[in-house]
Amino acid sequence: MIQKILAVLLLYTSVVSWGQTPAKPPVLIKAGRLFDARGGRFLQNQAILVEGDRIKEVGDAAIVSSHATGAKTIDLSTKTVLPGLIDCHVHILSNPKDYSPTRDLRMSSPQAVLWGYHNLQIWLAHGFTTLRDAGESDLAYGQLALRDSINKGLVRGPRIVSAGNFVSVTGGHGDADPLAPDQALPRRPNLADNVDEVALAVRHDLKYGADWIKLMATGGVSDVLSDFNVQELSEEQMAKAVEIAHRAHKKVMAHAEGPDGIKAAARAGVDSIEHGTMMDEEGATLMEQKGTWLVPTLETFQRGAEEIHPGEELVASEKNKAILKFQAAAFQRALKHHLKIAFGLDDDPDYVDREFVALVKGGMTPVEALQAATVRGSELLGLSDQIGSLEVGKFADIVAIDGDPLADMKNMENVVFVMKGGEVLK
Ligand SMILES: [Zn+2]
Repeated sequence: MIQKILAVLLLYTSVVSWGQTPAKPPVLIKAGRLFDARGGRFLQNQAILVEGDRIKEVGDAAIVSSHATGAKTIDLSTKTVLPGLIDCHVHILSNPKDYSPTRDLRMSSPQAVLWGYHNLQIWLAHGFTTLRDAGESDLAYGQLALRDSINKGLVRGPRIVSAGNFVSVTGGHGDADPLAPDQALPRRPNLADNVDEVALAVRHDLKYGADWIKLMATGGVSDVLSDFNVQELSEEQMAKAVEIAHRAHKKVMAHAEGPDGIKAAARAGVDSIEHGTMMDEEGATLMEQKGTWLVPTLETFQRGAEEIHPGEELVASEKNKAILKFQAAAFQRALKHHLKIAFGLDDDPDYVDREFVALVKGGMTPVEALQAATVRGSELLGLSDQIGSLEVGKFADIVAIDGDPLADMKNMENVVFVMKGGEVLK
C-alpha cells in the first residue's frame, strides 16, 4: 500500500516538474543615469540586477555586474532609468475620448472593460506600472475584474489599486442619471443622502472588493448637474465613510473642488483630496495639520479649458473655463504649505506625460514632480515597501526614457523601455 502511495507521489512530482517552466535567468540592467526617488537625485553609471519579479541588487555598475554571472544584459547606459511610474488618479473604463454625459449609459460593462484593457496598454507604454482607479460608475465593478485578472496573469496591465463606485448625493457629481424627471433611471446603490445610506454605499463597495472609497465632497466639472462650488456630501456623511473604510483597513479619497467641501473632507479625515482646485488658505492649513494628501490633476483642467471635447455639453466646458482661474493660486498654496502631493492625471492616458509639465509649470521642481509619480505615489497607496523606488527587494518595475527630464519634462514622453515585475513589456 505504502509503495503504491509513494509511486503515485513520485509520478505526481515528476509530472509537476515537467510542467514547470524553467526559472528565468537573472537580468542585468545597465543604467546610464538612475533616479534615486527616495533621495531625490540622479546617480551615474549604475546597474540593477533583477531576479524573478524583484530587484536583487542595485548600485555601482562595476560592482553589480561582477555579481551577475549568467545574467542576460539589457543595456540602458545611454538612457535615464526611473522606477515604474504611478498615476494616482485614473478612470480606466470606457472610451476616454467620448465626453458625452450619457457615455456610460450607452455602454455595457463588458464593452467598458474592453476599453479599459485597451486604455491600460497606453498607460503601460507611457511607463506607468501602477494606477489608482479613482472610481467608476460601472455597477458591475469592471475595474475590479481587470485588477484581479491582471494579478492572476490572465491579461497584461499595470498594478491596479481601485475605488469602487462614486459615493455621491442625489443630483451630485457622481449621480450617473442626467435624464429628465419623468425619464429617470432606477436609483443606484452609490447614491447616499444621509449617514446611513453612506454606510450602505461604502459597505457595498467593500463587499465587492474595492481598495479605496471615492467620495464626492463637492460638485464637479465634467457633469451637467452639479456645481463645483457647492459642498455635496456632509461632513458627518464623509466621517462615517472614513470610519467604516478605515475599520476595514481601506482608504478614502474625496473629489473636492470648492473650498467648503475641501475643508469638510479634510476634517472628516479622508486620506486624500482629489483636485483641490479652489483650495483656500484655511483649507491648505487644515490639510497640512491633518497630513491629508493632495492629488492636484492640473493637466485635465488646463486641456479642458483649451479644447471643446467630443460630445461634451456646453455647460461642462463653461464650468471648466470658470474653475481653471482658481487652479494656479490653489496649487501655489499647496506648495507653500508643503502638502504631500501625488501625481494624478484624471484624463485620457494619451496625455499622461503632460501632467509632469503642468506640475513643474505650477511651481514644483522637476525632481519633486518625478517623486510625485514614484515614491510619493507609493506612500499614498501604502505600497512604499513594494514599489516607487529602485531598491533591493522591491518589484522590478523599471522604465527608461531618452533624454534628461531635468532639462525638459517633455522628455517624459520618450519612454523606450518598460519592465513590470521583471517582465519586459516594452
Ligand atoms: Zn476623476
